[in-house]
Amino acid sequence: MIYFSTRNASPPASLKTALLDGLAPDGGLYLPDALMPLPDGWQGAPSLAGLGAHVLAPFVADTVPNAEALVRDALNFETPLVRLDDDLFVLELFHGPTLSFKDVGARTLARFAHALLEPGERLTILVATSGDTGSAVADGFSGLPGVRVVLLFPEGRVSEVQERQLAIERPGVTPVRVRGTFDDCQRLVKTAFEDVRFRAHGRLSSANSINIGRLLPQSLYYLDAVRQLGDTPRFVVPSGNLGNLTAGVMAHRAGMPAAGFVAAHNANRGFADFLAGDDLRPADTVQTLSNAMDVGRPSNAERLTALLPPERLRALVRGTVTDDATTRASIRDAYDRYGYLACPHTAVGLDAVRRLRGEGASGPMVVLSTAHPAKFPDVVAEATGVTPPEPEALARLRGLPDVAVTVEPTLDALHDAAFA
Ligand SMILES: *Cc1c(COP(=O)(O)O)cnc(C)c1O
Repeated sequence: MIYFSTRNASPPASLKTALLDGLAPDGGLYLPDALMPLPDGWQGAPSLAGLGAHVLAPFVADTVPNAEALVRDALNFETPLVRLDDDLFVLELFHGPTLSFKDVGARTLARFAHALLEPGERLTILVATSGDTGSAVADGFSGLPGVRVVLLFPEGRVSEVQERQLAIERPGVTPVRVRGTFDDCQRLVKTAFEDVRFRAHGRLSSANSINIGRLLPQSLYYLDAVRQLGDTPRFVVPSGNLGNLTAGVMAHRAGMPAAGFVAAHNANRGFADFLAGDDLRPADTVQTLSNAMDVGRPSNAERLTALLPPERLRALVRGTVTDDATTRASIRDAYDRYGYLACPHTAVGLDAVRRLRGEGASGPMVVLSTAHPAKFPDVVAEATGVTPPEPEALARLRGLPDVAVTVEPTLDALHDAAFA
């Protein structure tokens, strides 16, 4: 299998290059030259791990040694479909170790990247985070021989739960608290990639959300939803950088039945407006309650338009926009009606369902539930009066020492703290 760039101005790449470089040299995003095929009988696979073994492992087996065992180990948690009413379901993607769907992509990418290293080759993953990606990447790569993770997060700008997940000690992970904003963290990552000093310890890679190695495994939980439902749903996807939606569209293009998709956005509405007929315009990011979806320039729009021309994309995917007040109301509504505690991202998806039903849409709808409500205890408690019970995975982090090193937002400070 070879991987080509959406901009068609880079040479075709191997899976290793696509996974470890992330971005193609021409600035485009990698796509495989053929979609991941759905082998006969995929509906019979008993779990997410089973689907991984049956669908994803054969697709990478020519380059990734031991692919099936790695996939089974990466996807060792359930993605249950929970029924809320006759035609409304949530697909809970937050039962992995860091309690968001980012675990699916990060854990698989980590195992593949490690398996593709040459003997003795070393890899450093440098990642800036303000949300769920950081802890998923740190957890996913931690402990793999020859791999180190340097995790940058902005001081005082991540939630208490997030900070607990980011700043703990993990083998092979150096958490770095930056005296600055998330933009400072991203700038440091970008400039570090241009500075040879940061490559003294081996290959440097970023594992960010445009990596095709994260999208391929994400297609599997869409299949898992269809398998559990035994019917053809419309998928409602709380969206930011559009990786999740792209994974669903890739599965559908490969033959998975779907009655359509909804890209459910918060106030960062550029892609929803594009789906309604506008040009795609980059916009400044607006801060919202569903902060993991605060993306003004969604990178994966480029992949979606490479997969389908605009008119076909608009026929398949509908966009919706939900503001913060309506997100709060949606959290409350899910609790009042169904006794269900939804995180703010999932609530944006549930609001899209309310809207579509108001327009007369019928048939089964599956909302992807992207994070555990306990990651956002304050917002959920404010809307419902109920504090989500803390899962074991968060409770056991309480009281663990904070090992993050704190640095000024300069390249020299980052180098001395984590690369010297
Ligand atoms: C990352 C994230 C999203 C957005 O997913 P994209 O693939 O960027 O569209 C939605 N919800 C949660 C909880 C996330 O962490």
